[in-house]
Amino acid sequence: MHSRWEDSGASACGSELELRVYTSRLLGQDKSLVLHGGGNTSVKLVEKDIFGEEEPILYVKGSGWDLETIAAAGFTPVRLEHLKALAKLPILADPEMVNQLVTHQTRAAVPVPSVEAILHAILPYPYVDHTHADAIIAITNTADGEARVRDIYGDTVVVIPYVMPGFDLARLCAERFAAEAGPNTIGMVLLNHGIFSFGQNAKESYERMIELVGRAEDYLKRHSAWDVAPSAVTAAHGMELARELAKLRSDISKAAGFPVIVARHADNKSLSFARRADISTIAQQGPATPDHVIRTKRLPMLGRDVAAYVEGYRRYFETYEPQAKERKTMLDAAPRVVLDASLGLCAVGRSAQEAGIVADIYDHTMDIILRATALGGYRALPAKDIFDVEYWDLEQAKLRKGGKPLAFSGEVALVTGAASGIGKACVESLLARGAAVVALDLDAKVTAMKNGANFLGLQCDLTSEAQFKQALEQAVASFGGLDMLVLNAGIFPGGCRIESLQTEEWQKVMRINLDANLMLMRECHPFLKLAPRGGRVVVIGSKNVPAPGPGAAAYSASKAALNQLARVAALEWGSDNIRINSLHPNAVFDTGLWTEEVLAARAKHYGLTVDEYKKNNVLKTEVTSRDVAELAAEMCGSLFAKTTGAWLPVDGGNDRVI
Ligand code: ZN
Repeated sequence: MHSRWEDSGASACGSELELRVYTSRLLGQDKSLVLHGGGNTSVKLVEKDIFGEEEPILYVKGSGWDLETIAAAGFTPVRLEHLKALAKLPILADPEMVNQLVTHQTRAAVPVPSVEAILHAILPYPYVDHTHADAIIAITNTADGEARVRDIYGDTVVVIPYVMPGFDLARLCAERFAAEAGPNTIGMVLLNHGIFSFGQNAKESYERMIELVGRAEDYLKRHSAWDVAPSAVTAAHGMELARELAKLRSDISKAAGFPVIVARHADNKSLSFARRADISTIAQQGPATPDHVIRTKRLPMLGRDVAAYVEGYRRYFETYEPQAKERKTMLDAAPRVVLDASLGLCAVGRSAQEAGIVADIYDHTMDIILRATALGGYRALPAKDIFDVEYWDLEQAKLRKGGKPLAFSGEVALVTGAASGIGKACVESLLARGAAVVALDLDAKVTAMKNGANFLGLQCDLTSEAQFKQALEQAVASFGGLDMLVLNAGIFPGGCRIESLQTEEWQKVMRINLDANLMLMRECHPFLKLAPRGGRVVVIGSKNVPAPGPGAAAYSASKAALNQLARVAALEWGSDNIRINSLHPNAVFDTGLWTEEVLAARAKHYGLTVDEYKKNNVLKTEVTSRDVAELAAEMCGSLFAKTTGAWLPVDGGNDRVI
């Protein structure tokens, strides 16, 4: 643990609230303190109300914000005296607590305050910091965790036994703090949950957090429970294992009731953890801190028996649901973390971003489990306590905030020729519909074309079977399978009449426009067949298929053969629930092929202006890459759910085609 505080960073802050933002971000930068929306912070300020009266206000982290990236707008101002009065009530139900928080904000357009707001209010310090620090939960998730904490901290912290977050926890903390806090108290440890620090200013509160967690880390080091790095193991790879992963994704998607992304992590740490002899004990205790449950579920699945996992989840629900205060509806029973001796750690989510959060959380969980094991045994909270948080309305609200999933959420698309023109536009259209997109191109710029968890750009020469197989394996390891394939890559050589068309030129066009696509279809077929909603293939053809032009023999013949290949695939793959349709664009000028000069020359050749040339079709409209891409994406969607083997022009109407 080291303090990230810098006087230069702090002196740039113009107000106490900005200082609060500054140290909150410092906490958020340290993943061993705070992960994905975990933890919260606050500052107590005095502000003038509309009548000019001074009033104490608690600025507390709003829900939906991450400490790492929080801004002043992420803190919700709530009337402090009201919160302190609430803490004295004997009982306050969750919905009423949220109502009280929201109705005592001093501004309307702010996020809902953290459910730990009352807890922040009762601590008599201007600054309060709260994290779910790894070292603290490693130590408190052991049989004698409380004794260890008292041993480490003496009278510098107040120790709070586990109580579910919310009003009851705030009340208990208020009582314990009043009874036990002394002149040396600088923090509060919540067993199986996390830690609070507090202080008179931002630096003091932040550095106390660092000091307290540092002492827990030192304790782990002194007890030989810090260094848990495994010895090297060998990961298996290959197309066979990729197919097994896609089968697993298919089973998990069925159990979930929607398609999911499954990201494989076959690093040394994940693999050796999954291969441990005691895995069925140490990984089946429960999460490191209860709020992880909404991301990871209570238990990881060991191996690949999804039906058994679902049955176990159902039993868990049926055991604890009757003990809940009000009736609950069972969430989907699919696992979010899979530990498998061959695959390693697989993280499951409705998007690649979600799967990434799950993987991050479990990456820290493995360290916590191993460190607690080294202390004598990892012991998580009883299942009942985890159930209460998993089915707590206020936690569920965090997930619902994600809103309605997009059309292709949890699905994976592969686009060829993706670095420019129609291919690039297809990447955009598919990402916009929530798909994870694998973009292939000969041009290396494809790798850095987009940021974000949902995008994987790979340089790949499609005439090399070995290169493509490697790319496909990498795609499946990243996202778990393949649902959509957009065959876009192709070349259009300059005009050349048949009598001078060289065999080599002809074969080159065939290799890229036709042979490569056969290979792609063949290699992708086993994965498309496992697509939870059925596989979809879109072929970007050409107007030259129905209406060829002179001087384009190789191009027209290759696209016509590809079109016929697609029609045969439609016949053969219907029983595998794979649809395949073709698009025939024409005169799409916003691609790399068309420079201003070429366009001007062609327009002049036909005696037209550039604008007339671009719109030289029945509808007198310009066809853009985006128009083609949007249609390609729609062909993968529900609108075309009952269409296969079709070929559709997207050309503004061409009299020869019509
Ligand atoms: Zn907490």
